[in-house]
Amino acid sequence: MTDVQTTPVVTTLIIGAGFAGLGSAIRLQQEGIDDMVILERDKQVGGTWRDNQYPGAACDIPSNLYSYSFAPNPDWSRSFSGAREILGYIHHLVNQFDLARYIRFGTNVTGLNWDQDRGVWEATTEGGETYYAKTVVMAQGPLSNPGFPNIAGIEDFQGKKIHSAQWDHNYNLEGKRVGVIGTGASAIQIVPSIVGKVDKLTVFQRTPPWVMPRPDFETPDWQKLAFRKLPLSQNALRKALYLAHESMALGVIWNSPLTRLAERLGKWHLRNQVKDRWLRRQLTPNYRLGCKRVLVSSDYYPALQQPNCKLITWPIARIDENGVRTVEGIEHQFDCLIFATGFNVSNAGTPFPITGVDGRQLNDEWKRGASAYKSINVAGYPNLFLTFGPNSGPGHNSALVYMESQINYIVKAVRTITSLDLKGLDVRQSAQESHNRAIQKRLSRTNWNTGCKSWYLTEDGFNATMYPGFATQYALQMKEVVLKDYRLLPHS
Ligand SMILES: Cc1cc2nc3c(=O)[nH]c(=O)nc-3n(C[C@H](O)[C@H](O)[C@H](O)COP(=O)(O)OP(=O)(O)OC[C@H]3O[C@@H](n4cnc5c(N)ncnc54)[C@H](O)[C@@H]3O)c2cc1C
Repeated sequence: MTDVQTTPVVTTLIIGAGFAGLGSAIRLQQEGIDDMVILERDKQVGGTWRDNQYPGAACDIPSNLYSYSFAPNPDWSRSFSGAREILGYIHHLVNQFDLARYIRFGTNVTGLNWDQDRGVWEATTEGGETYYAKTVVMAQGPLSNPGFPNIAGIEDFQGKKIHSAQWDHNYNLEGKRVGVIGTGASAIQIVPSIVGKVDKLTVFQRTPPWVMPRPDFETPDWQKLAFRKLPLSQNALRKALYLAHESMALGVIWNSPLTRLAERLGKWHLRNQVKDRWLRRQLTPNYRLGCKRVLVSSDYYPALQQPNCKLITWPIARIDENGVRTVEGIEHQFDCLIFATGFNVSNAGTPFPITGVDGRQLNDEWKRGASAYKSINVAGYPNLFLTFGPNSGPGHNSALVYMESQINYIVKAVRTITSLDLKGLDVRQSAQESHNRAIQKRLSRTNWNTGCKSWYLTEDGFNATMYPGFATQYALQMKEVVLKDYRLLPHS
């Protein structure tokens, strides 16, 4: 049993050692706050990029933008780096900023509880420990819990089952009959990477994605040298990439002539790579571009046309001990089933119980769909900061750009709490509600809310995930901590 009186209270407790948790630690440290602890359930840092090491795993935003502006890497080997290289970058951040000393590995947080009298958060863990902190950063990741589809008989399959986020590198795919379930961002990277190894590859598609060409190049040595000698040149490239992605918002987020132009590019890409009309029809999306995540690949369509590869568009009826049975009654037999079926996204509910002021439960409040003030605070949960909170998801730009805005906001808020010696900073319910009314109104005019089924929406079609605007707008709203939107709780 932990002794409440003697256990130290740290200034900040961070849950998760992925990009968000480590980035928060770096920025807090840079602002002179190094009284913190990072709790990580795994034995290693890296989050997404530790877990998603499937064949072909890579970012789909150029590396010079999918990295932190305060920690540029002049040595990215390609325009879109692979998971291993990104994980290497994360390890490098840990060494460069000496972060290992803050991290408690193998510490799975199972609950958070606000102690109103002391103005302290208590974090309980699976191992039975309790940690105390004035402020908490939730950096447990929006996509950190693998999701399996709700298909009957999934447990009956007697062959090998692999989820894309839990790849088994000891399993040899060579000569095997393999089925891939899903055609999202992970599947379109896995399929081209394994089609040359396996005996037969069958891809089960529910909805065809919009796929754009992927301009992936090896970085020439002269460019790496230029970035090292002239850091401003790398900064200029990052800015150019940022603006190019910002302009994509006009086609991806809202229905505009640019949406039509992007759809034309997608259809051209398909026509250019797939000559067979029947296959092309099966691969043509029947929903507006942007409604689901737009994918980038130049080798997915060619892989589907390899002689040992087959696309199945009949819905899956069930999985049995031998493989997959589709609704028209055919049984497809496999040695291995790969589930490229994404993640359990907590857009309705919390990853573990969070108890706020007067015993309120965030899980109950978010049951019908999550909402927060500027994606970062929730009324009744003082000093609790969310990364990738409700309506902070980007559809067109680097997640790390949004993350930096959140992290900088958190640093300012923590600074405010410590410098004003507050017990807590609790966002006003009214500020939260008016923020969300505006967000939902803006969302109703976006491509995401045009009727397709995606992980951005809850079962009832509520969009608790995406930010309906430019990254620049998001950054602007996060620039200042507007104190009039908060209740400043004094020590009694
Ligand atoms: C396969 C994949 C590819 C992606 N590619 C891109 C891309 O190209 N461009 C882009 O902009 N975005 C991309 N994203 C989205 C986003 O950038 C990444 O998910 C990013 O890594 C999120 O960082 P994070 O730190 O928030 O979460 P994570 O990387 O998921 O890290 C969360 C950490 O918290 C730990 N944790 C979770 N729960 C607990 C708990 N209860 N207690 C203690 N620790 C816990 C986890 O073990 C993990 O280490 C991708 C996402 C995925 C899944």
